[in-house]
Amino acid sequence: MKQPANNTGSNVRVVFGRGIRKSIAAETRRLGAARALILSTPQQSDAALETAELLGSLAIGVFCQAEMHTPVHVTNAALAHVAETKADCLIAIGGGSTTGLGKAIALHSDLPQIVVPTTYAGSEATPILGQTEDGVKTTISDPRVLPEVILYDSELVQTLPVNMSVTSSLNAMAHAAEALYATNRTANTTELAIEGLKAFVDGLPKVLANPNDLIAREATQRGAWACGTVLGQVGMALHHKLCHTLGGSFDLPHAETHAIVLPHAIAYNARAAAKELQPICDLLGGDNAGTALYQFSKNVNAPLALRDLGLKEADLDHAAELATTKPYPNPRPVTQDHIRSLLQAAWAGDTPIH
Ligand code: NAD
Repeated sequence: MKQPANNTGSNVRVVFGRGIRKSIAAETRRLGAARALILSTPQQSDAALETAELLGSLAIGVFCQAEMHTPVHVTNAALAHVAETKADCLIAIGGGSTTGLGKAIALHSDLPQIVVPTTYAGSEATPILGQTEDGVKTTISDPRVLPEVILYDSELVQTLPVNMSVTSSLNAMAHAAEALYATNRTANTTELAIEGLKAFVDGLPKVLANPNDLIAREATQRGAWACGTVLGQVGMALHHKLCHTLGGSFDLPHAETHAIVLPHAIAYNARAAAKELQPICDLLGGDNAGTALYQFSKNVNAPLALRDLGLKEADLDHAAELATTKPYPNPRPVTQDHIRSLLQAAWAGDTPIH
């Protein structure tokens, strides 16, 4: 696996290691900070409190109200807390939701961020922020939201429940899969995307066999970094557009939605980008990257049907319309009829149409 400084040219400090979270005080001092505000979801407040203990007098507060899709009202409450406590640094410990809150605060305050990821979502490696206000999700890309330091501690991701380990892995793999055919891809992003995919193809079955296998957990975290990094470097297409629509407008959960849609979106695009998607067939076998991913999803017991997430069949027309109103680059032309059929198969959990 390539080291970040060689591959991205960015100044982000990325450290992997079992127990690396315990160096949080040294990392905070390295940033020249002395008043750290720790962020988490309510479910991970214990991890936030452990971080506060590790920081000692460097911690000035804990804000445990991060929510999925980064609602603006939560960001505003956190910004008030930042002002009150005069925080000079943010420490986000959690998945993409907590990272999203840290990024949203950084956008307004320019405070430096240390992220300690506990899922494979990869948000920590991107300058992208998705936010929700009045039920509408918007995405921006801004260098101010890119975290300064990432600490990948395999001990933290081992508590990720098995079902979430599966869906979060497929969420990461989706970034890499779409990076393979991105119009602005480079040889370097393609190489990194393949490394990320391989890390999950090899590592996820080992994680499922033994969720406490810290070597496999670290390998998958390296995959998460690679997949997140390419997400930040190239444009995404049909798959991410569909998931954005389903998450933002129908309130479907992020990682599960990515997991279910991925084989369908890739099967759809395989007709126009078979050569670009060949690395997926090389890793998984088969001659269609989408059906290969569908089989992989079945093997790892991933959720397969959007209906199981609560999406109603009656919503599919509207979803297809929303996902096709604004044009965007995609290997295969996107039509409402085709996307409606794709969504029908994903809703029912059927084999992808290709
Ligand atoms: P999440 O952060 O919402 O976590 C889901 C739940 O699992 C939360 O309750 C969380 O506290 C808990 N959890 C996380 N790690 C755990 C662990 N190790 N052990 C036990 N529980 C744990 O889920 P996610 O899929 O990581 O993030 C989804 C969010 O991230 C979405 O809002 C999505 O839009 C965003 N995202 C953004 C980017 C980006 O580049 N901007 C990339 C990927 C995802």
